[in-house]
Amino acid sequence: MALIVQKYGGTSVANPERIKNLAARVARYKALGHKLVVVVSAMSGETNRLISLAKEIMPDPDPRELDVMVSTGEQVTIGMTALALMELGIKAKSYTGSQVKIVTDDAFTKARILSIDEHNIKQDLDNGYVVVVAGFQGVDTNGNITTLGRGGSDTTGVALAAALQADECQIYTDVDGVYTTDPRVVPEARRLDKITFEEMLELASQGSKVLQIRSVEFAGKYKVKLRVLSSFEDEGDGTLITFEEENTMEQPVISGIAFNRDEAKITVLGVPDKPGIAYQILGPVAEANVDVDMIIQNTGADGTTDFTFTVHKNEMNKALSILRDKVQGHIGAREISGDDKIAKVSIVGVGMRSHVGIASQMFRTLAEEGINIQMISTSEIKIAVVIDEKYLELAVRVLHKAFELDAE
Ligand code: ADP
Ligand code: ASP
Ligand code: MG
Repeated sequence: MALIVQKYGGTSVANPERIKNLAARVARYKALGHKLVVVVSAMSGETNRLISLAKEIMPDPDPRELDVMVSTGEQVTIGMTALALMELGIKAKSYTGSQVKIVTDDAFTKARILSIDEHNIKQDLDNGYVVVVAGFQGVDTNGNITTLGRGGSDTTGVALAAALQADECQIYTDVDGVYTTDPRVVPEARRLDKITFEEMLELASQGSKVLQIRSVEFAGKYKVKLRVLSSFEDEGDGTLITFEEENTMEQPVISGIAFNRDEAKITVLGVPDKPGIAYQILGPVAEANVDVDMIIQNTGADGTTDFTFTVHKNEMNKALSILRDKVQGHIGAREISGDDKIAKVSIVGVGMRSHVGIASQMFRTLAEEGINIQMISTSEIKIAVVIDEKYLELAVRVLHKAFELDAE
């Protein structure tokens, strides 16, 4: 008998029929004697619909009120899921994030989980209930509803699995595992039986939305056994995220390619080159809780510096106005501009540690297609480039081929 957390994404709860399918799977696991916690997302499209509704009223919606609205999507599906289980004769009980007490900080629309009160859930499980929990939402210490960022139901699932010390966390989605890249962009992409935690963390952080990055972080921190599976198929083992130290010599050099269309580039031109400048530019941006990803600084022949960094597209205007209002005059920058027509492509693999020439192979492959590289960043197991967004799919396809990810 095991304690299993199953998380179902939007397409897996898209209509009553699919919710009934989900309930049937849960029933099969229950019949084997397992204890089940089910985490559900909103029906697919629902979170987007709610965000659009908010924007029709306020173009840049107040984040607290936005969370009040978007968290309702998951409240609908937990009720439906509990009903579907009851219809199968299974005792079931639903919980919103605040009913569980999934306590988060107060960073509305991208809150972080601080603690989870697992007491009631454990009691229900001991009493034979299947517990259904709303993904993506929590409550801050003042009782405000918060949400965990897009794709945040994955994080609810893994965080609950950690808090309950579950034997496994299963992420059910509309693909049957983690692929070498998004199979919607490259049909030749292959499913991986397993992937190391480190690689999954890089892929997720570089934009593979199959798992939200914070869910992978939780899995790493609490050593949660995590598996990605299809909710449309009953067969198959999906992809297991492994924690063993792999022998990198035997690994393929590149395991996967991630991409991200959600970033925008901000450039600050003609900044005096002196100590403290990076802090003066990025300090106010960080204070406004805007996350910065890639950063590049280049000193020109005239002794001034050009400073470029990327932020989420949604936050480009916010970052630009902070810089223009609070920073530009202060540091004497010549010009500040934003570009949201960019995309980031990243190749990831632990095999990079034991191979040389990977970056040059990547750059050559892109050059042969006439794709200009605007920014580069690397880690031990990743090379990421920013390019014009119109070349994104081409770049992913040619890199997938160049690194022989198409091959069996
Ligand atoms: P859910 O609603 O179940 O959370 P998501 O849409 O968030 O599903 O994530 C699943 C999607 O992630 C897939 O449909 C696929 O298009 C995309 N995806 C991106 N990169 C990968 C990858 N490397 N492997 C599998 N799927 C990927
Ligand atoms: N419903 C939320 C979203 O669309 C959370 C999730 O699906 O994981 O982002
Ligand atoms: Mg998702």
